[in-house]
Amino acid sequence: MIEKARHLLESYFGYSFFRNGQEQAIQSVLSGNNTICVMPTGGGKSICYQIPALVLPGTTIVISPLISLMKDQVDALVQVGVSATYINSSLTFKEASERIREAKQGKYKLLYIAPERLESREFIEDLKQMEIPLVAVDEAHCISQWGHDFRPSYRHIQQMVHNLPQNPTVLALTATATPRVREDICDSLEIDEGNSILTGFERVNLSFSVVKGQDRLRFFLDYLKKNQKEAGIIYAATRKNVDQLYERLKKENINVARYHAGMGDNERIREQDRFLNDEASVMVATSAFGMGIDKSNIRYVLHFQLPKNMESYYQEAGRAGRDGLDSECILLHASQDVQIQRFLIDQSSDRIRMTQELEKLQQMVDYCHTENCLQEFILQYFGETETKPCGRCGNCLDSRTSNDVTKEAQMAMSCVIRMGQRFGKTITAQVLTGSKNKKVTEMGFDKLPTYGIMKNRGAKEVSEFIEFLISQGLIAIEQGQFPTLYVSPKGKDILLGKEQVYRRETVKVREIAKDDPLFETLREVRRTIAEMAKVPPFVIFSDATLKDMCAKLPKTNEELLQVSGVGEHKLQKYGLEFIQAIRMFCEAHPERQPEMGAATAPKKPTPKKAIGDSHLETFELHQQHLSINEIAEKRELAISTVENHLLQCAGQGMEVDFTRLISSEYILLIEKAVEEAGRDRLKPIKEILPEDVSYFMIKGYLYFLSKNKV
Ligand code: ADP
Ligand code: MG
Ligand code: ZN
Repeated sequence: MIEKARHLLESYFGYSFFRNGQEQAIQSVLSGNNTICVMPTGGGKSICYQIPALVLPGTTIVISPLISLMKDQVDALVQVGVSATYINSSLTFKEASERIREAKQGKYKLLYIAPERLESREFIEDLKQMEIPLVAVDEAHCISQWGHDFRPSYRHIQQMVHNLPQNPTVLALTATATPRVREDICDSLEIDEGNSILTGFERVNLSFSVVKGQDRLRFFLDYLKKNQKEAGIIYAATRKNVDQLYERLKKENINVARYHAGMGDNERIREQDRFLNDEASVMVATSAFGMGIDKSNIRYVLHFQLPKNMESYYQEAGRAGRDGLDSECILLHASQDVQIQRFLIDQSSDRIRMTQELEKLQQMVDYCHTENCLQEFILQYFGETETKPCGRCGNCLDSRTSNDVTKEAQMAMSCVIRMGQRFGKTITAQVLTGSKNKKVTEMGFDKLPTYGIMKNRGAKEVSEFIEFLISQGLIAIEQGQFPTLYVSPKGKDILLGKEQVYRRETVKVREIAKDDPLFETLREVRRTIAEMAKVPPFVIFSDATLKDMCAKLPKTNEELLQVSGVGEHKLQKYGLEFIQAIRMFCEAHPERQPEMGAATAPKKPTPKKAIGDSHLETFELHQQHLSINEIAEKRELAISTVENHLLQCAGQGMEVDFTRLISSEYILLIEKAVEEAGRDRLKPIKEILPEDVSYFMIKGYLYFLSKNKV
């Protein structure tokens, strides 16, 4: 059966390989076991029930908590040629009855429903008349009171399953389950914990970073200007913040949408659609936005303020990069956010809950201040123990130099003390920079010995420096009608010269991706098709698929089928348009060549499938540490074929260990050659190397480089 599953993955979805965990989940479901599958967002959970739905007879029921999500998923399935529909409150009574009637006739392989439906006895009676082999429960953490989105109607699922005559298999899926929530899910859905598929929470394509002690508005504007073509979400704490940032971006002529609970329903939906359809590249929103947003090509999620806990943060940030392409999650942190969050928590009446939430907030603050790997911090928060530094986050990659700022810190803190520890940040900065402001002179601060001792800097810069001292816990804030500064015990140690303070240089804004005109062209083609089909662009093809087209430059149907994410159905529907666009582009840009290792394989009768299986076999032997010669001998293949297989596997993101395949002295030689000739073209590299260094070795080395981001 798993063979059949693999074939379906290929022919419908256009993917050659299962991702981590998918195959086990499918296997478990097809063996009739109730199963729980915990995979990070974007890990590919949908495939875990969509493929069994295609293998099994009858109609698979999918419980999904959000209306917009259902629609996107159903649109996406219809696009790849699977019959699916949904029933929820967005339909008229007549539409719903019609769909139920068709479902009873067995017209659909998948039927998505909102959990609230299960409260209707009539609807359960309808379900009883259908053949239902599998019930998939998406966002299964909604079942648990310990989760962060408890949905009471999820409690009806188990009863519904019991009511169905064929005793269907249950598959629960979620991205955010702490051990406690997992236990709850297993209990309520009668899942044996032995049938858990956990792939870990790590998101290998996301890079996390925290920006603190800097002017965040400036950072934010700079970042948006540099990355305005990319789709991104900005989360802000309040409606007012959202409106302000929105207006600000409009002024910069950035194509922006907004979303918060203070807007009318219609306007909210309109704004959301503009973002989903790539009409607006940026969405500024409160945390009300995002549940049920499956848009896969979000390149960055930027938090303008501190979220209230790690759970919310990881969920919101995790909306970036569902398509598997590199994406960024940036948190802008300023110490006053903590006070605001604390204030909000203080409002709540439940004592126990309050303590819990304050603890969670503290962990969020710790995240902002850790100098260790940020991804690792998150994983450990969710209970993973065997973690290692990610090598991609802001902390792992931090190469900024630290400067000793002890002297400046002492100046600022002694000024705070001399001012009587009764004033705020702004006026303190004014005193330090020697401002002639009326309030400063009125209070007689211009007579203080610390008046103007930092006058070679701007008031803004000094104010940021004070923020930095706050973030380091040296200066603390006393809340009141106006927050005032005082020096903490730790700060006093610095004043006494017992310890030093170091500060890193400010974070520079960078572009996420280089512009590729072909990618822009293909995006346009996609947008036009999407408009006609009345679905969001990412439902036609994901960004990852467009990027793969840019790498492989397919000019025929067979070649297009080699592109990840292109299955038979979409090939028939849209292939021509994309092939034409690529051909035209290549005629106008003859220098553009397929990327190394991405070149499409020579044609064979049914190229894709044959290659897929054979690749896998080679790859497995490679994993068993066989050398290329040994694999070639064992499989009776030419050495060059084996080499090609491995390059293609590497191109698919599989772990080929090139360091084992290329001798270390050659690696050194290639390294030098690449330094000299650049890595854009192979030939110049090959030319300066000894004869017996092959193209395979060079390509392999370059893969190794790109994988290790040297
Ligand atoms: P999740 O529900 O876990 O957040 P999705 O099911 O929405 O994730 O999948 C995320 C993205 O990954 C989708 O664009 C999907 O098409 C893609 N995807 C899923 N499985 C594979 C695979 N085996 N190979 C390549 N892409 C995949
Ligand atoms: Mg999902
Ligand atoms: Zn890291």
